[in-house]
Amino acid sequence: MTIRTIENRSCVAFGIKDVRHVDQPLAYSPEDQVLVRVSRGGICGSDIHYYQHARAGMSILKNPLVLGHEFIGVIEAVPQGSQLKIGQRVAVNPSQPCNRCALCLEGKQNVCRSMKFMGSAQFNPHVNGGFCEHVAVTEQQCVPYGDHAKDSVMVFAEPLAVAIHAVHQAGVLVGKKVLVTGSGPIGCLVMAAARNAGATEVVATDMSPRCRELAVEMGADYAIDPTDEVATTLWGENGGYFDVCFEASGAPAAIASTATFTRPKGTVVQLGMGHATVEMPLGLLLVKEVKLVGSFRFVDEFATSVRWLESGRVNPLPLLSAEFRHDQVVEALEMAGDKSRAAKVQLVFA
Ligand code: ZN
Repeated sequence: MTIRTIENRSCVAFGIKDVRHVDQPLAYSPEDQVLVRVSRGGICGSDIHYYQHARAGMSILKNPLVLGHEFIGVIEAVPQGSQLKIGQRVAVNPSQPCNRCALCLEGKQNVCRSMKFMGSAQFNPHVNGGFCEHVAVTEQQCVPYGDHAKDSVMVFAEPLAVAIHAVHQAGVLVGKKVLVTGSGPIGCLVMAAARNAGATEVVATDMSPRCRELAVEMGADYAIDPTDEVATTLWGENGGYFDVCFEASGAPAAIASTATFTRPKGTVVQLGMGHATVEMPLGLLLVKEVKLVGSFRFVDEFATSVRWLESGRVNPLPLLSAEFRHDQVVEALEMAGDKSRAAKVQLVFA
């Protein structure tokens, strides 16, 4: 097997508040990997956590890590016989499931125990991400899209896939009343996805007025400050107002409130990664037979997401707060980490 090594300017996390724009050579195998020249990346919460704390959840930075799991690019080289073409624009799915375990064989790759998710320090050696000039990936990771689509739109493919998976987890939304607690980028994309999936009423909460405005731009009928008790008391009457609550904040008070706001026989989908342990009024879930389900990453929803963005079915651009050149990654991370100023911040590579 041939291994080729190429120079690769990359955004690398070394430790707390230590992200550098350095050359991190890329070893790739032309016989079985696709070489993609990265055009744009989107900064996600986990990238910000690696920058601020050298960890994201239970994944602790032990070695330098190329950040980034939201990225798109243009194909530069393909293995012989590939259906993909040089020059094709692709969204890259950062999921690298083992494709051999029982869960993978059942089509549940998102919960594969050996998932090598790009830009993650979960395993050691870490799995480098896509905030660099080139990535080497499998053909299965590449989802092509048309030349008319904007880079700034298509780079939302990964977070929108997370949102569409959450909608899948809720079951049929046609005619349903939906609450989304937390109006950050993921919460807002869930609102857009729920609207597309047929929900008749989509309501958002967030403490920040700026996030509530974004929620309405992204498809919520209206948005409420969760500390406004007059508004939220109504949601708890007669056993609860909403058929489905998507919890996208991770805030303990928001998580607990879903038990009150969800109708009997309704569903709570937990997306927000918050504190490891929170209090939940289980008695309410029990007597109302409310289903509580987790939602983690995505499977086929990545391809659906690319189609929805490419066709304009979802317009994510209200969420785009700023763009930086890739060598300005530190400035970009600083801005992305300031929730009073930024929703989604993007890095431009080419
Ligand atoms: Zn697997």
